[in-house]
Amino acid sequence: MAAPQPQGAGWLPRIRRLPSPNFNARPAGCPVDTVIVHYISLPPGRFSGDAIDRLFTNRLAGDPNPVLAELSTLMVSAHFLIRRTGTLVQYVATDDRAWHAGPSRLLDRGACNDFSIGIELEGDGTHPFTCAQYRRLSRLLELLRKRHPLRLIAGHEDIAPGRKFDPGPFFDWPLVLSSPGGAGLIRPFPLKLPIKRLSPLSQP
Ligand SMILES: [Zn+2]
Repeated sequence: MAAPQPQGAGWLPRIRRLPSPNFNARPAGCPVDTVIVHYISLPPGRFSGDAIDRLFTNRLAGDPNPVLAELSTLMVSAHFLIRRTGTLVQYVATDDRAWHAGPSRLLDRGACNDFSIGIELEGDGTHPFTCAQYRRLSRLLELLRKRHPLRLIAGHEDIAPGRKFDPGPFFDWPLVLSSPGGAGLIRPFPLKLPIKRLSPLSQP
């Protein structure tokens, strides 16, 4: 029998749920007003398999790949993962605090996990993200804005400069900020143009 699906506030309907134990409550009264964008691939540079799912659910211990086994003591999570195909997985309810940002600062606020939603895109910083990922991200942002007063969006590299480099030079910020889900959000950092622009969202 399938494991019971988590219910309650902050789980999106009709999206694959893989509950992570790596979360806790947000500070009382803390508005969720920010999205933090990341990339991840496990093993690094490989875009397939279930290692990301196992990282976020603490199931990498004993993996024959030493790179993965070494990550097994990390207790991390994100709210969402968008795979190269555009497939979406949710690990933590958006009302709860996922553990994706680490030591971080956004404008006058530290501890960005408190007030942000973490979205991982399957990627590695050396390949452009896919059109399917941008389309999914736009639709996800539209859904999230129905529930949370989102106004800011930033990359992990913005809030942890020098320590983190994702989503990196291939992430197309202008495309996201002009997409239906991203329009009106503010990225309070200097605009970096991506190395390679993709087609507009409207194209297949
Ligand atoms: Zn990151």
